[in-house]
Amino acid sequence: MKLSGQIALVTGASRGIGRAVALELAREGANVAVNYVEAEARNASDAAEVVKQIESLGRRAIAVSADVSRPADVQQMVETVRERLGGLHVLVNNAGIVRDRTVQKMTLDEWNEVLAVNLTGAFLCIKSVLPLMVEAGYGRIINISSLVGVTGNFGQANYAASKAGLIGLTKSLAREVARKGVTVNAVAPGFIQTEMLETIPENYRSAFLSQIPLGSFGQAEDVAQLVAFLASPQASYMTGQVFHVNGGYWM
Ligand code: NAP
Repeated sequence: MKLSGQIALVTGASRGIGRAVALELAREGANVAVNYVEAEARNASDAAEVVKQIESLGRRAIAVSADVSRPADVQQMVETVRERLGGLHVLVNNAGIVRDRTVQKMTLDEWNEVLAVNLTGAFLCIKSVLPLMVEAGYGRIINISSLVGVTGNFGQANYAASKAGLIGLTKSLAREVARKGVTVNAVAPGFIQTEMLETIPENYRSAFLSQIPLGSFGQAEDVAQLVAFLASPQASYMTGQVFHVNGGYWM
């Protein structure tokens, strides 16, 4: 197993890609902190279910509630992970939201909300975990960006800006911490079958599908496999990169 004895924190891991990542890291031997937002009761029970599945694989897992856009929540979350799991080797910044609208109609609140969760949230998590990684002389940070961060998309200026921002953050941080044994990479999924994909109207979805050379939308597990590799010691010579998982939609 690639991640035996490692401790990982995955943000937004109650469902979708984050959930698949948390489970895959556990399959590869990691103990995992499963972050979720406590906005709805459903989220806590979804996170508890992921924890149960990880434990059934023989690993340790905890569910930690935190809104990644809130500095105090994030600090408390990382402290909890350190205390209860004993350290932190891998951070996967996966939490993300959409508030789609054309720029002409987009409100400042819609702009700010998406930037706060998708980009500032990653920054805050990184700020909190870096001292632990630097002290240990080892760390893996994986930021879940998006194809849209590279290509842009109609009605997604806020989301695309946040995901492009994550790429800039990834590359800058990779340079800053390379000598400390910490690698930083971004993964850019294309169209992956999760609840987020369902926010796209059906006629757009089928238009996108017809342009995917591999002929289907991706599964959360397709992203998770790559993240697990980037999180492993075997990926030690890869940093500051953007890895695309999009069925060939964009090359
Ligand atoms: P999803 O099914 O909507 O799941 C989003 C996750 O983020 C949920 O676990 C949610 O937690 C969490 N989250 C939202 N706001 C949060 C906050 N403030 N603090 C902490 N967690 C928060 O989305 P997904 O499709 O799995 O997407 C996961 C990541 O991949 C996102 O960053 C997304 O932008 C990116 N991505 C997705 C696709 C795609 O096609 N699906 C493509 C490219 C990139 P709760 O359950 O507690 O609300």
